[in-house]
Amino acid sequence: MGPGPARRPVGDAVELLTNPALARLHPTGNHPERQDRLLGLGGETVERNATAEQLARAHTADYLALLERIDRPVQLDADTVASETSWQAAMLAAGIALEAVDRGGFALVRPPGHHALADRAMGFCLVNNVAVAARYAQAELGLERVAIVDFDVHHGNGTEAIFRGDDSVLFVSLHQWPFYPGTGGPGTSDGSTLNLPLPAGSGDDEYRAAFGEVDRIVQSFAPDLLLVSAGFDAHEQDPLAQMLVSDSGFRELAQRCSALAPRVAAVLEGGYNLATLPRLVAVAQEGFSS
Ligand SMILES: [Zn+2]
Repeated sequence: MGPGPARRPVGDAVELLTNPALARLHPTGNHPERQDRLLGLGGETVERNATAEQLARAHTADYLALLERIDRPVQLDADTVASETSWQAAMLAAGIALEAVDRGGFALVRPPGHHALADRAMGFCLVNNVAVAARYAQAELGLERVAIVDFDVHHGNGTEAIFRGDDSVLFVSLHQWPFYPGTGGPGTSDGSTLNLPLPAGSGDDEYRAAFGEVDRIVQSFAPDLLLVSAGFDAHEQDPLAQMLVSDSGFRELAQRCSALAPRVAAVLEGGYNLATLPRLVAVAQEGFSS
């Protein structure tokens, strides 16, 4: 066990941490990453913004200034919108991710983060919440070795790019490939990056088999902290992708993540079926808590 605040007592459920203002502050209309995604997920309301210094560990000053200056609805890339209060949403989402690190909790936040690059928005993402959380754990909690497991159906290209070449952060991604954003294909792993591209139509059996490699690589890395980019868009009823992971498959993924480090925290990424997201968050909470 690494230094820093005590981990969650054994037997207690992982806390769900959120803030309903994340809906109001980042209006997206009929976009798949819509305001109603957080409805019905539950969670304790947390009032905590990431500071400029904390955000600057993962993003360039110029990019953060651009987000802060937005004063009307804008399109930042082909599928990423923002408006005058999105900066507040981004600071709050990242701040709740930091709180999740402190408490070993599950941050239920939007906008998601794992496509956001150091210097630009991408794929519904403004600030890379999990990257800011990893740097916070290292710089402020003394947790030196951080592993990130990303089971969102899309490759976490932003997180990969931010930590590429940094041996203190292991990045692991299971994702549909070929698929958006196009990165993370065969032959793109290295000493601190493990990409496990899976074909469309993969379900619980394929994810279970691929996770054997995750177990092996993460255990040999021996992280002080494991962060999970928990997206639920690999679910069999998600409208954006073609994977077939079941509810119990997500419980198992979360459970296996929770066994990989002395401290574990999770951050919501994708998951776009509003009818299934609340129960998938609940089964993942069970898995993380076991
Ligand atoms: Zn996704």
